Amino acid sequence: MIRIKWLVSLLALVAGLLLATTPGPAKPRNVILLIGDGMGTGLVTAAGLRSGAPTQMEQMSVTGLLRTATADTLPIDSAAGGTALATGVSVPNGRVSTGADGAILPTILEHARAAGKATGLVTSGSLTQAPAACFAAHVASRSAEKEIAAQLLGSRLDLLLGGGRRHFPEPKGWRLATDPEQVGTLAIGRTLGFFERPEVGQPAEPGSYVTTSALVQGALGFLDQAKRGFFLVVVHDQIDHAGHKQLPEEGLQHVMELDAAVGACRRFAQESKDTLVVVSADHDTGNLTLERGVPSQRQVTVSYSTSRHTGNPVPVYAEGPGSGEFTGTYDQTALPQRILRVAGVER
Ligand SMILES: [Zn+2]
Repeated sequence: MIRIKWLVSLLALVAGLLLATTPGPAKPRNVILLIGDGMGTGLVTAAGLRSGAPTQMEQMSVTGLLRTATADTLPIDSAAGGTALATGVSVPNGRVSTGADGAILPTILEHARAAGKATGLVTSGSLTQAPAACFAAHVASRSAEKEIAAQLLGSRLDLLLGGGRRHFPEPKGWRLATDPEQVGTLAIGRTLGFFERPEVGQPAEPGSYVTTSALVQGALGFLDQAKRGFFLVVVHDQIDHAGHKQLPEEGLQHVMELDAAVGACRRFAQESKDTLVVVSADHDTGNLTLERGVPSQRQVTVSYSTSRHTGNPVPVYAEGPGSGEFTGTYDQTALPQRILRVAGVER
């Protein structure tokens, strides 16, 4: 009898310890998805070696690989890749969240909005370009940028920050923000901020444009007020452009800039404890190769092997509640499906 009592108290103690050590909630309240356009694994590895320490992305607790080639298409473009990440559906190159038959494919931001969450879209490039546009617009051709801009203004997103102002009509019904720090202090409500920056390969004075990290910090301050949580999608465009222009040093600088934004998201998630952070890419551009170097001296010589997209797999990094779902090697289309599933958002 005494032995049974001992056993019962031992089991209670073990159960108590297990509960006490379970980290945070299983279901995230907030989701942040960051996308490096054209960011293959070589770029991330080289960025870490150059900085003398693993990147923020590499320090995240879960790592996986996404297959980007589809049964019919290798390599994919940013429209098909963005659509796969936004909707979980594989479409022909050039399409922005519409099927080959023209069907409108709902995006994770639209599902999140329908579930009562606040939503934001931030990009270092033009809001009207893929992959960013794929999260809130539906057109047959990625070149229909004026139509994309009109659809973005007609969307139910709470926050849009990025470039491409020249494609937009008068943004009626939207509050215009001009400073990312100011964005973080505004009450939730349709807010739009245009932040343009120089093209890759053009001279750019540091401080003459707003960094992705500054945009993200403004967005987090803004969205953090949402009563039922938020979904935020962040795109860093210029990594792809550097690959097309065969400018590896600029490519690395842009990966490091995105990485600083990832760091800001990780700090936010560590404080909030109920935020899932996922980082990935729409496709690889240029297949950056680490040729030689002395890593202990932060030296590595890199080169692109092509100026085009490739069918190489791209990395996925995740951290926070539900992040265990993102390990392994899987099709790009599975990523948004997993995000919705772990967040408990119906599709
Ligand atoms: Zn490209």
